[in-house]
Amino acid sequence: MLYRTILWDLDHTLLDSEASERLALAETLQSANVADQPSVATIYRRINGGLWARVETGELSPNEVKTLRFEQLVRECDLDADPLVMANSFAAGMGRFGDLYPGAQQALRSALDNSETMALVTNGVGDIQRARVARLGISSLFDALIISGEIGCSKPGAAIFDATFELLGVDPGGAVMIGDSISSDMRGGFDYGLDTIWFNRRGAAPPTEIAITHTVASLGQLASLLGPRPVN
Ligand SMILES: [Mg+2]
Repeated sequence: MLYRTILWDLDHTLLDSEASERLALAETLQSANVADQPSVATIYRRINGGLWARVETGELSPNEVKTLRFEQLVRECDLDADPLVMANSFAAGMGRFGDLYPGAQQALRSALDNSETMALVTNGVGDIQRARVARLGISSLFDALIISGEIGCSKPGAAIFDATFELLGVDPGGAVMIGDSISSDMRGGFDYGLDTIWFNRRGAAPPTEIAITHTVASLGQLASLLGPRPVN
């Protein structure tokens, strides 16, 4: 067994969150009768990215981002729409749209068969993440779902990992954090003293400021890495 405890990120690691966001946003903009959807979507992504960076520093909570992004979008694009209605429509869509990446089920199964404890540790809004996990049928694979919007602290800070290990009732020895994000998953795992597996799908340059234990380019590679160890 390579790792006793496996902590998984959800967005852009297991779930195609790009599709989830794109479809939810298109639906929301359409309901709000927004004319120039592509340019508004570009502005939305900039606003949303900036706000999530402030979640990672602990400045904002995911629940604040849920509405704030549409308040800013309505203001910046001068839309004739109610930001709260848009925020709720988008949250519902985010729960409904987006599939697991091909190979995610196999990677999860491989991890489950070759570890003792698994948890999902995600920066996100509680109702959105729970709706997704339930729809995708993966909740039974995890011993705990740790959602930053529910517990009041986000990756990469230590508090979310403290909460995770306390909830799981295990110590951090032999644990690994798997995720796509350098700033939240890899930074958080590294600072907490965990091993890390970086899901580097796009072949990005590795960071210089933190050490990463393993890097994989596909979920298939991840399944093999987590799979049974060869006996010497
Ligand atoms: Mg992610």
